[in-house]
Amino acid sequence: MSEERLVNPQSGNDDAAAEHALRPKTLGDFIGQHRVREQIDVLLTAARKRDAAADHILLSGPPGLGKTTLAMILASEMQAPIRISSGPAITHAGDLAAILSSLVEGEIFFLDEIHRLPRPAEELLYLAMEDFRVDVVVGKGPGATAIPLQLPRFTLVGATTRAGLLPSPLRDRFGFTAHLDFYEESELEEVISRSATLLGLTIDKSAIAEIASRSRGTPRIANRLLRRVRDFAQVQGSNALSHQHAKAALDMYEVDAKGLDRLDRSVLIALIERFGGGPVGLSTLAIAVGEETETVESVAEPFLVRNGFMARTPRGRIATAMGWEHVGRTPPAGIATLFDTPAPDA
Ligand code: ADP
Repeated sequence: MSEERLVNPQSGNDDAAAEHALRPKTLGDFIGQHRVREQIDVLLTAARKRDAAADHILLSGPPGLGKTTLAMILASEMQAPIRISSGPAITHAGDLAAILSSLVEGEIFFLDEIHRLPRPAEELLYLAMEDFRVDVVVGKGPGATAIPLQLPRFTLVGATTRAGLLPSPLRDRFGFTAHLDFYEESELEEVISRSATLLGLTIDKSAIAEIASRSRGTPRIANRLLRRVRDFAQVQGSNALSHQHAKAALDMYEVDAKGLDRLDRSVLIALIERFGGGPVGLSTLAIAVGEETETVESVAEPFLVRNGFMARTPRGRIATAMGWEHVGRTPPAGIATLFDTPAPDA
């Protein structure tokens, strides 16, 4: 289900080619995240002055905010090649050793979802990051010997959606950590306007604002919604995207004015109508909406909580006053006190 969701911040099948075309290529084109941009700019300028590879960089933040894009920008600004892999794609330490030993001097190694790297690979990475060395084990059992292999100086760019899950020895080996935050609506408007230009579309300001407000602070979603509105307008025989197109298309795809889609709304409605607003456990809630707990936990809940529709309490999830109001219900009196009543075992 999450694959098809229009507001899924993860990259889906039809996104890859479209995203490639819309990815900013230089730091100057990268919208928002001013602090991170400034820090990276300093880092790059210093590395270029020293004529050396930049320090290892850790990028953390939710999916769709520009971590891969930044890694690619780093490579192009350093005029360095880039190798891309991800934690779950590396199943053995040997896979990682093979990649590392084939890197060239100054290469950027982008390792997405670094928190999902298997333990033995992670340990191998420590040595590689610190001493630019891997120990290749030859043979098996008591006769096995470790042959040290010198690596070229590369820059590891690790990306994670869960910085808290990284063991500290790994985190400490990054020279610089940048946290990407959700984008302001005005920044998303810039993203949409830039993408529309690249796609050769004419779009009204009010249509841009409508899409931005439903994009959950996430450029990937903004770009995807823009493409759906374009499809809708084209089917209507129009090449200019109006506010009317944006509203009608997004209503058709069931993305509401606050960016909630059908799953988010059904979670909120179940919480309110079946459980009196909670508290209720996440798995009970997932069963009530007929979804996997994992889907509700990783997709609907973070958005609902971050935007104040739902709250986590030690006794379970509760709907906030805003959550009640969003589904057209009056919040019960005294709802705020629920937030500060810890469970006896909390
Ligand atoms: P992540 O790696 O964090 O999941 P990506 O770097 O793949 O996210 O970004 C997803 C898409 O969003 C990219 O294709 C790019 O077009 C767009 N995007 C992300 N950040 C920005 C930004 N700051 N400015 C413009 N477009 C962006």
